[in-house]
Amino acid sequence: MLEVVFRVFIFVLGACLGSFVVALVWRMRANQLKCKAKLSSAEQAEYSKLKRLVGRKASSDRSVCLNCGKQLKWSELVPVVSWLALRGKCSKCKRPIGKLEFFTELLLGLAFLGAYLFLQPFGGDCLGVVAFAVWLVFLTALAALFIYDLKWSLMPSRLLYFSVFCAMILLICNILQGSFGVAQISSMIGALAILPGLYLILAVVSRERWVGSGDWVLALGLALVLQNYLLALIALFISNLLGCAVYFMSTLFGHKKKLSKMPFGPLLIIGALAAYLLKDALGLILPL
Ligand SMILES: [Zn+2]
Repeated sequence: MLEVVFRVFIFVLGACLGSFVVALVWRMRANQLKCKAKLSSAEQAEYSKLKRLVGRKASSDRSVCLNCGKQLKWSELVPVVSWLALRGKCSKCKRPIGKLEFFTELLLGLAFLGAYLFLQPFGGDCLGVVAFAVWLVFLTALAALFIYDLKWSLMPSRLLYFSVFCAMILLICNILQGSFGVAQISSMIGALAILPGLYLILAVVSRERWVGSGDWVLALGLALVLQNYLLALIALFISNLLGCAVYFMSTLFGHKKKLSKMPFGPLLIIGALAAYLLKDALGLILPL
């Protein structure tokens, strides 16, 4: 019974942080547009909607409807449940709101639950609990990067550096737990060459036309977590396969123009997390 309650708690925690992530992302975008010297007409229209969020902290104010500015009541801010109860519409202007919030809350809640089930943090020492807590923070940072890159094809540096910082703490936890020894160093170097190394070269050679400068920093954090060259290769393979699938589908349905600059961050995050989840299964057939 206690286990069920705890699992529900972990999901709710993820859903609440999902709500925080979306609030943070909108505010970061508003501040970014404010600081940008020249805005396109689409960006100007976007900024006029987001202007009210400039300078506000995501943690200290309540969310508003971006269409009519209505401040949302506490009952309209319950993660996952409120969106379903309101059927995805603002109670004042009746325009659709919160689709992004709903899916982020749901997916981050499931990601937290998945991390708990996968890592089983309470069976071992206290380092396992610390690593689990850092994983939750890391997943939250990845969720923010995922949304930002997906929506605006760009990743804020502060979020990128924070995700690398979390990945370094996870690596230190592994070293202290004895699960990362001298034997793994060469494999780790391989992972660093395959993910951030490759993306850094691509960004420099293409002058950031093929991939952005943020992609290699994101890849650095992911490689530090994967710690293995085969897992890095698998992450690269999955993300590129997904990229091809998205491109193929968008061409098929006539969205090719819209995807002229496909954000690679979300694909890289999915690829790396999938490779990490497959680690144990792959370990049976590959020399990981
Ligand atoms: Zn409204």
